[in-house]
Amino acid sequence: MSSSDTASNTDNSAPYYLSTGNEIDVFNAAFRRKLPIMLKGPTGCGKTRFVEHMAHKLGRPLISVACHEDITAADLVGRYLLTGGETVWVDGPLTRAVREGAICYLDEIVEARADSTVVIHPLTDHRRELNLERLGETLKAPDDFMLVVSYNPGYQSVLKDLKPSTRQRMVAVEMTYPGFDHEVKIVMQESGITEQAAKDLVKLASAIRKLDNSTLPEVSSTRSLVATGLLMQEGLSPREAARAAMLMPLTDDADVQRGLAEVIQSYLAD
Ligand code: ADP
Repeated sequence: MSSSDTASNTDNSAPYYLSTGNEIDVFNAAFRRKLPIMLKGPTGCGKTRFVEHMAHKLGRPLISVACHEDITAADLVGRYLLTGGETVWVDGPLTRAVREGAICYLDEIVEARADSTVVIHPLTDHRRELNLERLGETLKAPDDFMLVVSYNPGYQSVLKDLKPSTRQRMVAVEMTYPGFDHEVKIVMQESGITEQAAKDLVKLASAIRKLDNSTLPEVSSTRSLVATGLLMQEGLSPREAARAAMLMPLTDDADVQRGLAEVIQSYLAD
């Protein structure tokens, strides 16, 4: 266990995050050196929780944007809005983050439209500037401002992949589902189930993660294990809980569902 790992678990007021590698050290170093960070990893592996934890530890506000295909540059930067017969400029989340010296987290950045990723370019190099074209103003980011983006490399088509010019400007942290012992601890902590119950769930997840990925576009995430544990705490049997929180969200295909139900039966009690 590294020193930062220990530190992450002794600060009770920070959102709980169990470090699984050197990600805390990389994040701290990048923050000090004013470098933007790219978190790569599958859905539900802890990227958002990690950023929440780090923002708290660094004492910075966190402004998060869930990116989707309709997100434009104006959604990030801001726009003029008509209110009561007057047009007033309203800052977007990225502009607010720059003004406040916050950590700006652009979740699933590849989903955003290309013009919106262009506005972040001058913020990611030595200039650290945000150009507010409509206001005729350029903001210089304060030292405390940090840009963090996330994306799921297995998820999108090659076409939608991040442009090399955007990627090259960032420090990358590869995140993945935690190893067995870590994931057991996380599931226990987040749901309150016993160690044995958490071990059974993580073993089940490991089995599902090993299945042929042509039948499943995604596999069970740490998030879905936590959700299963929470349902168990509400009185559902392990099998019922896993069916609701792990199996059904993964697939609509009846054959695949039957196959997964068999896997669940061999790992969990009725
Ligand atoms: P992502 O942003 O990668 O989709 P999240 O950060 O939302 O995933 O993680 C989903 C849930 O899994 C969290 O709410 C938390 O309960 C749990 N989790 C995953 N990894 C960790 C971790 N390393 N430490 C603490 N909780 C974790």
